[in-house]
Amino acid sequence: MIFKNYINGEFRDAVDGEQLDVYCPSTGKIYAQVVSSSNKDVDLAVKSAGDAFETWSKIPMATRCKYLLDIANAIDDKAETLAKLESMDQGKPLSLATKVDIPRAASNFRFFAGAIAHHLEQSSVMDDQAINYSIREPVGIAGLISPWNLPIYLLSWKIAPAIACGNTCVAKCSELTPATANALCEIFAKVGLPKGVVNLVHGLGHKVGRAISAHPDIPLVSFTGSTETAIDIQKQAAPFFKKLSLELGGKNPNIVFADADFDLAVDEAVRSSFTNQGEICLCGSRILIEESIYDKFREAFVAKTRSLKTGDPSSENSDLGALVSAEHRDRVMSYIDKAKQLGGRILCGGTKPNLTGEFVNGYFIVPTIIEGLEQDCEVIQQEIFGPVVTLQSFKCEQEALKMANDVRYGLSASIWTSDSSRSHRFAAGLKAGIIWVNTWLKRDLKTPFGGYKASGVGREGGHYSIDFYTESKNICIAIK
Ligand code: NAD
Repeated sequence: MIFKNYINGEFRDAVDGEQLDVYCPSTGKIYAQVVSSSNKDVDLAVKSAGDAFETWSKIPMATRCKYLLDIANAIDDKAETLAKLESMDQGKPLSLATKVDIPRAASNFRFFAGAIAHHLEQSSVMDDQAINYSIREPVGIAGLISPWNLPIYLLSWKIAPAIACGNTCVAKCSELTPATANALCEIFAKVGLPKGVVNLVHGLGHKVGRAISAHPDIPLVSFTGSTETAIDIQKQAAPFFKKLSLELGGKNPNIVFADADFDLAVDEAVRSSFTNQGEICLCGSRILIEESIYDKFREAFVAKTRSLKTGDPSSENSDLGALVSAEHRDRVMSYIDKAKQLGGRILCGGTKPNLTGEFVNGYFIVPTIIEGLEQDCEVIQQEIFGPVVTLQSFKCEQEALKMANDVRYGLSASIWTSDSSRSHRFAAGLKAGIIWVNTWLKRDLKTPFGGYKASGVGREGGHYSIDFYTESKNICIAIK
């Protein structure tokens, strides 16, 4: 099987004929090849997107909406196949891909079809002197770069608003997880989306991703991925004054107060720590627990974590699958080793599971809990992006807030308390873009999504996405 570029409505080899192997994370075996493109392929995709823009940006909005709804329905129709591909390609449990990745991909297209149809602009009257009104237009060719952790969900989170607003795009998924991006292009072809509206170029980040960020004819880049890559993208884009949306890493705290619903806090802290093997930017990888319930919470949290099953992603019994690559597995393990060197206590996990048969060489790690680390150490400060969480205790609200904010990231946080005044007060003090109270991972697509500090720049979601994927101008008419 070879995953090819999708340019101008056709599946094509890379101009230089190069390819990369694609590995199945749960077996460690190569299961496909993906074309490895260069700036020559990006140039072809930009030409195709530029030609398509002339028509796509002018067709009636209702027609654009209809295409988005057709895509959403086609994703629903292929949901079972897509979930299997996503699980095989990424390593996640099939049950998770079925419940989260695929339905959320469909709902991205459905949501933005509705959002654009119901969008209303404002006007402003300046006493009896003038009337102002604003109009919007698509930006042009959108460069869309996505990561490997929620492949189809995050790619559709970019493609849907970009094309709903009348842009065309040149997209790039992670070279580690090309399968569902390829399937999405098959869906675009099947529903008859006009050629060149969406172009997908596969390949390595420093070649294809950089060619997109540095391309003079791409005025907008939406990127989801690591903070380090975003630094390079900003440098490449700077000379062209591109519009940038950067959705980056996190080191998100779960803050558990003594007055929380204890069982709910334990269950949800486990879910937020280990869903998708901890490979979600919103995972709560630091658990801050009020001192008076620390021992009780630790005992319950460790027991619940020990009951999780790690193994065959296609089995209904598996709570965790494999990490995305051998390289990433080794990186996560290096943080566990570092924690041991720093005097951290491994309360559970820290090893490979004992699996047999085809899964012996898969990239699995048993969910891992560490305590006894200092706030300023690397393991508490850096994003690990795997099934590894740290436990820390705090004495008072003020100390908890200081610890929660004391990292370079500021993506999300969850507060566990039954005191509603405290939840508002604490949320107001947190430096994070998304704050949950007594819940985790609920997403209303109308609300702003994005991070503070090194977790990102810009907000997407609802009208925030419409702002980003359009240029607006104000027209001021004198009435006197
Ligand atoms: P990554 O930064 O390595 O890669 C992301 C994408 O960028 C890939 O398609 C990659 O090929 C491409 N890329 C790599 N180098 C590039 C370059 N120099 N120029 C342009 N593109 C380049 O990230 P990853 O390892 O795929 O994903 C994990 C990271 O993504 C984690 O840090 C995670 O927190 C973050 N993430 C953030 C969000 C969010 O919404 N905030 C969501 C999911 C993942």
